[in-house]
Amino acid sequence: MPSMNVESFNLDHRTVSAPYVRVADVKQLPLGDVLTKYDVRFCQPNKDHLEMPAVHSIEHTFAECVRDHSDDVVDFSPMGCQTGFYLLIAAQPDVPATIELVAQTFQDILEATEVPAANEVQCGWGANHSLEAAQTAVKAMLAQKNTWDQVVAP
Ligand SMILES: [Zn+2]
Repeated sequence: MPSMNVESFNLDHRTVSAPYVRVADVKQLPLGDVLTKYDVRFCQPNKDHLEMPAVHSIEHTFAECVRDHSDDVVDFSPMGCQTGFYLLIAAQPDVPATIELVAQTFQDILEATEVPAANEVQCGWGANHSLEAAQTAVKAMLAQKNTWDQVVAP
């Protein structure tokens, strides 16, 4: 296949072993700052996916809670294929530290009693949420934390 502009379009999704946390892109900005984009993958591509209410509630709760642990988070957004999320951090790549940050935030999600901003004022589809489904997905991924740094099956 020809080389494409988007990093993940050059990733062979058949070879990865989810769940994992990997560096998808590193951008050196003109003034010297560095942006690192992480692929936080919950589900094995083309085998499994999250339902949208789970994706949406993970997105809201993670986005709110992760900023309690780091001032460097720029963005946390779902992948359209519903198998994971992109986490954008204004710092040099550091997979072990990012794994700890993600795990800490997952713990917050497990302890949450409601999804932040799940209403018509603060969200574009406030009814499309499931905290229970989000917690189930996060719990399953957290259970495999010891292999999050292994992107390809051994
Ligand atoms: Zn929303």
